[in-house]
Amino acid sequence: MIRLHDVTLSYRGRAGEVTALAHTSLAVGKGEFAAVVGPSGCGKSTLMKLVTGLIRPTKGKVEVDGAEVTGPVKIAGMAFQAANLLPWRSVLDNVMLPLEIVAPHRGRLGRERDAYRTRALDLLGVVGLRDFADRYPWEMSGGMQQRASLCRSLIHEPELLMLDEPFAALDAFTREELWVVLRDLWQRLGFTVVLVTHDLREAGFLADTIHVMSARPGQIVETRRVAFPRP
Ligand code: ADP
Ligand code: ADP
Repeated sequence: MIRLHDVTLSYRGRAGEVTALAHTSLAVGKGEFAAVVGPSGCGKSTLMKLVTGLIRPTKGKVEVDGAEVTGPVKIAGMAFQAANLLPWRSVLDNVMLPLEIVAPHRGRLGRERDAYRTRALDLLGVVGLRDFADRYPWEMSGGMQQRASLCRSLIHEPELLMLDEPFAALDAFTREELWVVLRDLWQRLGFTVVLVTHDLREAGFLADTIHVMSARPGQIVETRRVAFPRP
């Protein structure tokens, strides 16, 4: 699903050039759950931006689903540390929000809106929020908001889910509940996941493969297949 071939990425700024990633290669298979771990500043977010096509490599090649990435990758869903729900919209409307980006002309939405609505309610059911569809984000806990955010990132059936520290802002108990929620979603829907985290337990609990990065230079220095069988 994802291939990086000897990728180098340098940012050019006022202070000169910063090489965030140096000669990095990576392969993530279809349906795999990959975790990327490493210290702050090692280039994890840069790797995410390269895979989703938000930035282009300085050297080397990035491929997603067999094609070189030359612009925004449409088959990817994304979620971040902040749930970023719109406070004046219900949970259901937040989950359906991507529909308005895909089809902004309200008149033509009809059947598509129904399909999104059904899928949104199904996803909210999987994460245990079916009864909160008509509530507002500010009425819910951080963990519940992040569950809704995961539903939103999955609403257009992405083949690839890119997660950048999605649980970092949650307390330890809620975080572990969300691991189970994410694993359920992954097992049911079968998408490929890349999870960036600096929580090694999280990586160990969730991932098939753990890629360890070093800083200076930002590089994947070790790749470990997780050997234990999972439920
Ligand atoms: P991580 O996500 O692992 O914390 P990043 O990918 O955000 O790491 O950053 C890797 C390195 O690149 C850091 O040294 C950071 O300061 C630098 N960097 C990130 N974004 C930019 C940018 N837009 N311009 C210049 N330097 C950047
Ligand atoms: P989470 O583990 O998702 O962060 P919490 O531990 O904060 O959830 O809350 C535990 C349970 O309490 C939730 O699953 C939910 O059923 C209920 N709950 C939390 N906040 C609210 C709320 N504002 N209104 C109604 N029920 C709530």
